[in-house]
Amino acid sequence: MLSYQHIYHAGNLADVHKHALLAWMLEYLTRKDKPLTYMETHAGRALYDLTDVAAVKTGEAKQGIKKVDQWFDADHPYAKVLAITRATHGPDAYPGSPLLAASLLRPTDAIHLAELHPREHSALDLAMSPYPVKCHLRDGFEMAFALTPPTPRRGLMLIDPSYEIKADYTDIPRHIGKLAKAWNVGIIALWYPILTSRAHEPMLSALSGAHPDALRHEVRFAPARPGHGMVGSGLFVINPPFGLAGAAKMIANFYNTLN
Ligand code: SAM
Repeated sequence: MLSYQHIYHAGNLADVHKHALLAWMLEYLTRKDKPLTYMETHAGRALYDLTDVAAVKTGEAKQGIKKVDQWFDADHPYAKVLAITRATHGPDAYPGSPLLAASLLRPTDAIHLAELHPREHSALDLAMSPYPVKCHLRDGFEMAFALTPPTPRRGLMLIDPSYEIKADYTDIPRHIGKLAKAWNVGIIALWYPILTSRAHEPMLSALSGAHPDALRHEVRFAPARPGHGMVGSGLFVINPPFGLAGAAKMIANFYNTLN
């Protein structure tokens, strides 16, 4: 049974890292007119209310986007999506990755989103109803295998699991190997937590060994509360777009200013 709900973590320092880099990559891809495919294996509900009791309970958004909003100039694609979301849904609304993608992409682009939790999927369907996207109530990797290689062929897949199942860490390198082989031009981006338990490390060693040209980018921050095991955020990107390393470095500099 799935128990993870992203509302407890929406807008935290890991989301800021993941979403700022995702927004940068999607805007980069739209510099060419050619249509693209965006796929997401673990979509969440797409629109978050940071005044929700769950978000307030953990205080993660308060230590995250609410604190670091000023890091991003108004012309950064992440800042642009934050501004659109707040203008449409109110000042405490926060865009999850599906809404971020739909805000930056064009009607000619294809968007496929998978979410396995029925309640999160209903919320996703509702939040995405203004956009021409397909929300699959299905296992994310099952959807990814079924649609890969996608049409249009250029594009990006975000893999953002909740890592509720220990086997995720061993299964993911195998799944990604299969996807990268079937879609050799696709940008495949995996988010992962940096954990004090170091449970993520064997997964990263396997991925780095199999995909030596991928970009691995990590930022560190203090745990959200004493004893919390997540102390950083990582993104592993196969076929990284030109310029991503520079954009990521700028974001890492921001994280270095946190105390
Ligand atoms: N990508 C989202 C974002 O950045 O806004 C957050 C996604 S959250 C970390 C992970 C989501 O994956 C949860 O909503 C959870 O219900 C869902 N999930 C868990 N296992 C899944 C599976 N096997 N297939 C699809 N979705 C799954």
